[in-house]
Formats: sequence, structure tokens, C-alpha cells
Amino acid sequence: MNIAIYAGSFDPVTNGHLDILRRALHVFPRVTVATAETVSKRCTFSLEERLNLLKQVTRDMEGVEVRAFEGLLVEFTRSLGAKVIVRGLRQTTDFDYEFQMATMNARLDSDIQTVFFLSSLEYLHLSSSLVKEIATLGGDVSQLVPPQVEDAIIQKVK
Ligand code: ADP
Repeated sequence: MNIAIYAGSFDPVTNGHLDILRRALHVFPRVTVATAETVSKRCTFSLEERLNLLKQVTRDMEGVEVRAFEGLLVEFTRSLGAKVIVRGLRQTTDFDYEFQMATMNARLDSDIQTVFFLSSLEYLHLSSSLVKEIATLGGDVSQLVPPQVEDAIIQKVK
């Protein structure tokens, strides 16, 4: 019952995502990190690549499981017997989209709550797309993503 689902594109996973995950683990003993084949967003990394990176960087985190899902997030959440969806908020610009998603998910299943964790100050401006942009321009992303992810991005943007 105490499982939370941290859902996202994770294209690729950044230190900002991991910060939210660590803080979610202070509240929920088990967190399933879930990602899907995206419909609305074109991802740079395939589903398999995103899952592999997520698995590598969470390997030593107790209580974490990485899963792919298809279809509606609320249905996947329900299928695991979970009642909480975790999301992160960086700045006010995240709010509109997150509010819309959380409201719609609550309408689809009123038993499922969306819980938001606020980004730490140091990750407030960090996003997967910004990391990819910096790497494409030859910048250093070693402070922004774990080493395995840095290697994968460098290979990808070569
Ligand atoms: P999605 O495409 O579903 O928004 P993302 O991988 O971009 O997937 O983000 C997943 C969740 O993690 C979102 O709730 C997003 O706001 C949050 N998130 C992403 N980057 C950060 C960060 N640097 N700090 C806090 N939360 C973040």
C-alpha cells in the first residue's frame, strides 16, 4: 500500500530526478520509477535506453524498482496496488501542466493522489532537455547527471 509511482519521461534521468526520488524515499518505503513509450513527446533515448540508465543509476537505492508501462498511468498505478503518483516541481512554469495532469488523473481515479516534491535549489533549472542541449554544444554536464548518463549522452550527441 505504501508504494509510490514516480512517473516521467526520464529522457535521460538527471540529478534533479534522482533528488526527487531520494526525497520521495524518505516518505514512501518503496518507489517504482515508471516510464513509457511517449506519445506527446519525442524522446532522444529509446524506452529501453531510458530504462537501462534508470536501472543503472538506482541500482544501489533500496526500495526502488524501475518499470515500463503502457497506457494510462492511473491504470498502471492501480495495477500495482499503489495509491500515490510522485512528481517534481521546479518552478511556476511546471505548475500549469502538473496541475492539469494531477486533476485529470484524480478524475480518472479519485483514490489515487498526486504528491509533489519541490526541487532543491541547485536543481531548480535542471531539465533533461537542457542537459542534452549543453552536451550537444560540447559543454560539461558532469555536475548535472550521473557518470553513466553523461557517457550515454556524449555517445548520443556525437
Ligand atoms: P514528463 O515528460 O512526464 O514531464 P520528465 O522526465 O520531464 O517527464 O519529468 C518527470 C518529473 O520530474 C516531472 O514531474 C518533472 O517536473 C520532474 N523533474 C524533472 N526535472 C526535475 C528537477 N530538476 N527537479 C525537480 N523535479 C524535476
